[in-house]
Amino acid sequence: MTIEDGRIRILADAEPRADGAYVLYLLQQANRAHFNPALEHAVAQANRLKLPVVACFGLLDGSNGFPEANARHYAFLLQGLADAAAGLEKRGIGFVMRKASPAEIAIDLAEDAAMLVLDRGYLAIQKRWYGQILEGVKGRIVQVEGDVVVPVDIASDKHEYGARTIRPKIKRHLEEFLHPLRSAPVKHRADDLKLKSEIDISDPDKVLEGMTLDRSVGPVKRFTGGESEARRRLKAYLAGPFGHYGAERGKPEAGAASHMSPYLHFGQISPVEIVLALREAKGATDEDRDAYTEELVVRRELSMNHVNTTERYDSYDHAVPDWARKTLHEQAGDHREHRYTEEQLAEGETHDHYWNVAQREMRVTGYMHNHLRMYWAKKILEWSPSAKAGFERTLRLNNRYFLDGRDANSFTNVAWTYGLHDRPWARRPIFGTVRYQSENSLRKIDAKAYERSVDELCRAEED
Ligand SMILES: Cc1cc2nc3c(=O)[nH]c(=O)nc-3n(C[C@H](O)[C@H](O)[C@H](O)COP(=O)(O)OP(=O)(O)OC[C@H]3O[C@@H](n4cnc5c(N)ncnc54)[C@H](O)[C@@H]3O)c2cc1C
Repeated sequence: MTIEDGRIRILADAEPRADGAYVLYLLQQANRAHFNPALEHAVAQANRLKLPVVACFGLLDGSNGFPEANARHYAFLLQGLADAAAGLEKRGIGFVMRKASPAEIAIDLAEDAAMLVLDRGYLAIQKRWYGQILEGVKGRIVQVEGDVVVPVDIASDKHEYGARTIRPKIKRHLEEFLHPLRSAPVKHRADDLKLKSEIDISDPDKVLEGMTLDRSVGPVKRFTGGESEARRRLKAYLAGPFGHYGAERGKPEAGAASHMSPYLHFGQISPVEIVLALREAKGATDEDRDAYTEELVVRRELSMNHVNTTERYDSYDHAVPDWARKTLHEQAGDHREHRYTEEQLAEGETHDHYWNVAQREMRVTGYMHNHLRMYWAKKILEWSPSAKAGFERTLRLNNRYFLDGRDANSFTNVAWTYGLHDRPWARRPIFGTVRYQSENSLRKIDAKAYERSVDELCRAEED
């Protein structure tokens, strides 16, 4: 199957350089060796030009580190890169990894390349790298969008109001972008190229040890990075818990969620691969499939739309809609029965027992169920000195502890807590007409069973 044209953008339309030694692929968003449209585009072009493919990765380190990334995130990223590197080697694709920014390594290695292929992410830092690459690389540059089902500009060319408005636009194009992607044979292996990696990624723990980074949030045992692990988990999930997704996705203790978010965040699995697999899953109903597709495609790609069309998506003043900021401002002087510092929140030292349990799951294991994330974030709004302070600390905690943090989904869902993609509800103290969530919403779940599962998960981290 060829790659759909709508995924491909020609960023610099030059002929491939005749004296190029390879086709270069900057592995940045899609950190995988299979089901990766950007990589397959590079392979197809290299086969046509009778050249090998070289993939490269720039590892940010020290003061140049990825914003808000800590040892937890880097451990997972490096495990994933070790797996991708092994997959690339098997296919005869070169892999060069250096301590550099993605733009620096791409610009340097593009000197000897016939052309450069990029994948696509939507965060401001990624857009900055693409801009630097466009300035620094002379020659053909092609970008291939492989970490969404429907390419963002095809889904919508404007900031969407919510799921209600983007859903029909995504559904209109869904089938056009749901095709399997075969790993094509590489005709010219990169084995003889003299390019060497500065970093030996075959031992990711050692690479992590050698890095200068924030180690106050450590790696977790609950999740191991890599595309092989992502596929193994997906297979096990679709054979079992997925059959309860439609009915039980709102119950954290039911185990019906897929835990795919860290793998999606780090580009270790393609959302197209997931949708195609869930369509084949036995033992699931259309209700399960529709509910999962709604989350993975409509909600997730609504987040991409928000981040892609909102320059300061990390700022309360820019990401939260006017009506919501106005109503929150009107309630700013309301009495707040409970107020906590950010440290108390991080340590789970509030009066709300189950909130503390959820916070412990996040702090110790790097994950929390969607239902609890909503409750967790709404309570931070309620317990913070102001709505703006609440937004900022929620985002910091989210991005510090969640393995899937620092994602388009992080910025969008934190802003959702403050009214984004939502409508006004009945007026309440502190919240104004922004949707409120009471302790009663926990009555719908078996909170004791949830706490037992968190105890067990935390014990496993300490073993
Ligand atoms: C306050 C708050 C903060 C959040 N922070 C993040 C974050 O940092 N990173 C992140 O990836 N998600 C975030 N989410 C969205 C959602 O909670 C997680 O994606 C989901 O819980 C991940 O678990 P899962 O893979 O088991 O989900 P499943 O229920 O198995 O869902 C499958 C996939 O669908 C997507 N998805 C599910 N729920 C949502 C949603 N509400 N919005 C967008 N996409 C969704 C995710 O990609 C997820 O992996 C946040 C939600 C809230 C309310």
